[in-house]
Formats: sequence, C-alpha cells, structure tokens
Amino acid sequence: MKPVAKKATPAAMAVLRQATALRPKRNKASDGILPSAAHMKQNPSSDHNTGFAVDLTHDLKHGIDCADIFDKLKQDKRVKYLIFNGRIWSKERAKEGNRKYTGSNQHTRHIHISINDDMGKDTSPWLPWLDKPVFKTADAARAAALRLKPLPKKKENK
Ligand SMILES: [Zn+2]
Repeated sequence: MKPVAKKATPAAMAVLRQATALRPKRNKASDGILPSAAHMKQNPSSDHNTGFAVDLTHDLKHGIDCADIFDKLKQDKRVKYLIFNGRIWSKERAKEGNRKYTGSNQHTRHIHISINDDMGKDTSPWLPWLDKPVFKTADAARAAALRLKPLPKKKENK
C-alpha cells in the first residue's frame, strides 16, 4: 500500500477551488480528494492515497458538465487518466480512445481526475473554457452563436 498523503497536491486542490470560483453554486456532494478509510481498503493503490487525484461532482444544472470536462481535459498535460460515466481514458493508452471502465463504481456522479506524478504543483487553470459568460437561456446562447458565425459566401452571378 502506498503511504497516505496528509495533504492533497496543489494541482488537485486547484480543480475544486477553480470549479467553485467559476460556478459558485455548484453541487459538491461527490467532491473528494483524500480517501476515506473504506475507500483505501477497497482501492489501496488509488491515486487519491497520494493526493494526486481529485473527484469533481457532476452538476449540469450549475454548469459543471463532467462529460464535457472528460473530453476537454484529455488535452491537459497534467492528466494521467480520467474516469466518468463508465468510461476511462488514459494518456498512456490514448490511442485506444475511451475504454469501458470495469471498476465497481461507475462514476456517474463525479469525474475522477488522476494527475501525473511530476505535475502536482501545477495550478494553472483546469477549466479555462468555463471562464466566459453564461447564457441564461438556450435561445440567448443560440443567438450569440449565430452572431459569431461568418456570413455565408455570396454566390457569384455570372
Ligand atoms: Zn476518484
């Protein structure tokens, strides 16, 4: 069994802090960094035991979409692997794409993020795409999207 860390890495803590800063009303029910005793017994080699993993609660209503986060964080150099909604993706096996997660916890209420061993101090923004205006309605979002679209090319009259 890996020794249990007393403190989570700054990078892991930054995930939760930044998510809360960007979406203050988000649900935190499934957040987690360091493991409980039960968790350790069940999964003694978990990255949670060393402070290099973090669980972020899925909360669509308040703008924390873990499906979206799962896809976008594949680009983050700090990520070792991700688990959400019965799927796992790891940098090491990135070529295989999303794989079926066979663990007992299917991670439907939170995304699990494991951080590379040498990147525990990197607290740069984890969710930079969330740092933009939130549209109150789907219509407002659609209207904004339309305004950003380039104008269609005019057909040449010959
Ligand atoms: Zn986890």
